[in-house]
Amino acid sequence: MEPDLNDVFTLVLRRNPGEGEFHQAVREVFDSLGPVLRKNPEYTDAAVLERICEPERQIIFRVPWVDDNSKVQINRGFRVEYNSALGPYKGGLRFHPSVNLGIIKFLGFEQVFKNSLTGMPVGGGKGGADFDPRGRSDGEVMRFCQSFMTELYRHLGEYTDVPAGDIGVGGREIGYLFGQYKRITNRYESGVLTGKGLTWGGSLVRTEATGFGTVLFANEMMKRHGESFDGRRVSVSGSGNVAIYAIEKAQELGANVISFSDSSGYVVDEDGVDVALLRQIKEVERGRVADYVARRQNARVITDSSIWEVPVDIALPCATQNELGQDDAVRLVKNGVRVVAEGANMPATPDAVQVLQEADVLFGPGKAANAGGVATSALEMQQNASRDSWTFEHTEERLATIMRSIHDRCAETAEEYGQPHNYVLGANIAGFTKVAGAVLALGVV
Ligand code: NAP
Repeated sequence: MEPDLNDVFTLVLRRNPGEGEFHQAVREVFDSLGPVLRKNPEYTDAAVLERICEPERQIIFRVPWVDDNSKVQINRGFRVEYNSALGPYKGGLRFHPSVNLGIIKFLGFEQVFKNSLTGMPVGGGKGGADFDPRGRSDGEVMRFCQSFMTELYRHLGEYTDVPAGDIGVGGREIGYLFGQYKRITNRYESGVLTGKGLTWGGSLVRTEATGFGTVLFANEMMKRHGESFDGRRVSVSGSGNVAIYAIEKAQELGANVISFSDSSGYVVDEDGVDVALLRQIKEVERGRVADYVARRQNARVITDSSIWEVPVDIALPCATQNELGQDDAVRLVKNGVRVVAEGANMPATPDAVQVLQEADVLFGPGKAANAGGVATSALEMQQNASRDSWTFEHTEERLATIMRSIHDRCAETAEEYGQPHNYVLGANIAGFTKVAGAVLALGVV
């Protein structure tokens, strides 16, 4: 790392002790920025990096609620309003027991550059709580969401901060959150949350957007290299919102998706994943991957190894951070993988990315490949602002155009900086320069 970058990175380490994922996310971006700082010394003179690494606001709050046994439960809620140089803070809420400030900061930091890459007028933020919705009744989830919003609402607004979903936060949770916001404020401000239901301000394609977008991004990378999804074997980790729609779009493009997972194990279904059955189990019954195997004759579930052991042409990690390590990358390469695109945020560890890039695997980093979700959230905000609702076809076409332009921006930037095909470099530099320019223009604020 260049000395100027190293000084700022040392500061980040000192100011944010013990926040490993946050350090990892900052380092990954800094590793790309040397040539940008040499070309633009004004960024260093004006401390742009220091400003971008320090969130504008970090909110931590208690979330008290009562469970079905009348027992008082206490969780911790977070919202990190990271950077608003390009627009209101925008980014999801994650409900998962692993959530802490460092995780939310890593996600918020990533979000700033991702949102910049979409070309939409949105800044970056992220939030959540260490609440585990799994195994909780609808009533418990509702009471938790209401308590969470009772504190968070004062920080939100169409022009201030607009949350959406992430792990553990889907349509059900967004509904309870929006209901409580509306009740407290007495205002039907649709533009304050995205991922809403279709009958109360939501956008068609938002549910599908992250998974669809990841596959569209991978498809663009492949097209540029004369390849396609058609007839390819694909593994998708996770079986939540991103994974399900990545599977659906990959199948639509002719791929044979044979594997998916959750935190209890992974499934191999050589007949091709039955996505309707998977949706029924995950979205309706809220079941586990074993429930899928029980209803599919040739599928099997494996609980003592990694999904990345399955030989495939294309791997789409769509579960969580650091789920694809160096050994997994080595195995994927040995088995002939051609493309890896990150549907999740930072699912591949830095040493895994290095293995993949050194083996000339086409690698699409999350901040570019999974930007379709937030881009479609911005389309939902546009529809809310104009009291309009677009058709599925029109919205999907907008998503496809956005993913194509993110891909092209990353590819052209990588080429401009002398490393064609390095999408990590391209995404980091293209995302950073737009934010840095706005930070400079807005003065010391
Ligand atoms: P989700 O609907 O809650 O699904 C998450 C899936 O990942 C579940 O199948 C879950 O299994 C699995 N998972 C979580 N932690 C795991 C672990 N430690 N090991 C193995 N599997 C694990 O969440 P999502 O919205 O699909 O988000 C998935 C990823 O995409 C996250 O990194 C998120 O930040 C990123 N992302 C989401 C969006 C969006 O629009 N939703 C946009 C951009 C990026 P269990 O149920 O067993 O935990």
